[in-house]
Amino acid sequence: MRKILFALLCACLLPAYAPAAQIIEREMRCPVCGHQFYAKLDAPDADYEMRLDLKPLGAIPGPWRLPDCEKCGFVIYSSRLSKEELAKAMAAAASPDYRASAARSTYYKAGVLFGLLGKPDFLLANTYLKASWQEENDPARLKEDLELSLRHFTACAAACTGVEKENSQLLIGELLRRLGRFDEARAHLAGLRSEKGFQDNFFADIVEFQLGLCDKKDDKPREMVEVKVAKLPLAARLRWRAKKIYLELRESLR
Ligand SMILES: [Zn+2]
Repeated sequence: MRKILFALLCACLLPAYAPAAQIIEREMRCPVCGHQFYAKLDAPDADYEMRLDLKPLGAIPGPWRLPDCEKCGFVIYSSRLSKEELAKAMAAAASPDYRASAARSTYYKAGVLFGLLGKPDFLLANTYLKASWQEENDPARLKEDLELSLRHFTACAAACTGVEKENSQLLIGELLRRLGRFDEARAHLAGLRSEKGFQDNFFADIVEFQLGLCDKKDDKPREMVEVKVAKLPLAARLRWRAKKIYLELRESLR
């Protein structure tokens, strides 16, 4: 879990720590056009559950807001840009590719921007992954986001090392499953069983859980906690499911 959290923290623009989940407003200045405005930001709980695709759950589910300038549409991915990066970002923001993405989600636009800026594959993969959370009610856009994320995780798995490589390897299995490419997902996940970072740990448990989902041709988002539940004895599993159904029912009646 630590590794996943690390990946998540690295790839997120996290607002300052707040004791309870809430939405805050911060005055921002667009680094491209200079426009000043108030942007809403999420200040999530310190503890939260997440899905197998790393989407945070809880009081403020991810993706946490990524502000874009209300005047020129620039995604404010950092408040501190060097002179050199700002010049590149301004050119990228004026490009036809970025302008063509104006109607898309903020993380999709950030993905396009990062691609134009030549950012690393791991960042691009996580950015398009977050775009998939924002656009999951639109099947065509969701598929495009998942495929773009898969492409960059695949590049990172081949070229990166350490935590970034292992996270990429794990997410490749998730993305292939979500795209319904079950045979490829199974082959990839089975191959991870012999890798050093996937032995007797939570990653190994996730791999086995994912393989079970592939056998059932399940392409739905699933929660991380289900991996732990799957290892419980039958009676405890049934209790957990009954509680989950009760909580979902209660939520739907609110
Ligand atoms: Zn602007």
